[in-house]
Amino acid sequence: MLFNKSKVYILVLLVFLSCNNSTMNKEKSKKIVIAHRGASGYLPEHTMEAKAMAYAMNPDYIEQDLVLSKDDVPIVIHDIYLDDVTNVAQIYPDKKREDGRYYVIDFTFNELQQLQVTERFNPKTEKQFYPKRFPKGKGSFKLHSFQQEIELIQGLNYSTGKNIGIYPEIKNPEFHRQSGKNIAKIVLEILADYDYKTKEDKCIFQCFDANELERVRKELKSELFLVQLIEYPEETTQLAHFATYADGIGPWYKQILDSKVNEVWKFTSLVEDAHKLGLVVHPYTYRADQLEEFASFNEMMQVLFYEANVDGGFTDFPDKMVSFLFK
Ligand code: CA
Repeated sequence: MLFNKSKVYILVLLVFLSCNNSTMNKEKSKKIVIAHRGASGYLPEHTMEAKAMAYAMNPDYIEQDLVLSKDDVPIVIHDIYLDDVTNVAQIYPDKKREDGRYYVIDFTFNELQQLQVTERFNPKTEKQFYPKRFPKGKGSFKLHSFQQEIELIQGLNYSTGKNIGIYPEIKNPEFHRQSGKNIAKIVLEILADYDYKTKEDKCIFQCFDANELERVRKELKSELFLVQLIEYPEETTQLAHFATYADGIGPWYKQILDSKVNEVWKFTSLVEDAHKLGLVVHPYTYRADQLEEFASFNEMMQVLFYEANVDGGFTDFPDKMVSFLFK
């Protein structure tokens, strides 16, 4: 009898512990991991290789920055310039503009295919931006289109049975408009072709330009999940307006931190204010090799996810964030 009682007790305890554990993991897994430019801490940013590696690390979303080519193909690249991530200066020296820079928009997709992509560097000093990352000039990497990357991710979703999302950002819409190009419309049409149409479709659409993102919702009638990126602190006062068209915000993480007093972090009201308006908060960028105010990457994640209560994060190191969040 006594044996049976203790057996039951142990069983109840085990059930309790396992429920407790799964509840805890469930809580943690609600936080979103976004592979920033792919697994860019390990391979040159926005290459297919960096995206495939990120995919294998099981983030919730993989990010694409988009700039149009001369022939209107959305290229997955972080800037409107080519000269800090490719060998364009050697291959097309005559295509330099007066400001000394090479612009994606001046090249056709086929011309862009001739370039080698490398780890980010300063074109003036030739120095690699993050010295401990993939060595500059090594390996063989190419630029690719948005469609090629969607097909990689959707193909992997098919072959693995996973459902990893995409998180595209249209870059500098005003710059595109000055060249007669409507980047938002082109990208939304491609998304619709690949069945990314509503908030259920595992696609989050982001932009720094608030007028453009509002236009995406109100004029272009997109029903996608929209995230308003925030660059400047004064924009954090416009949350109520952002909430009229967006579903979330993507602030610089420093806009969330206030100060550290006696080893305890104090925060601005940004996350709380956003949550009151129903906006999720996905700050950028969690970098294990650029910690600044934090003693370790784990501290950074602990402070932002569980003390400041953000809902997700853009990271160059998706494996570390996935492991921290027990995903
Ligand atoms: Ca981006």
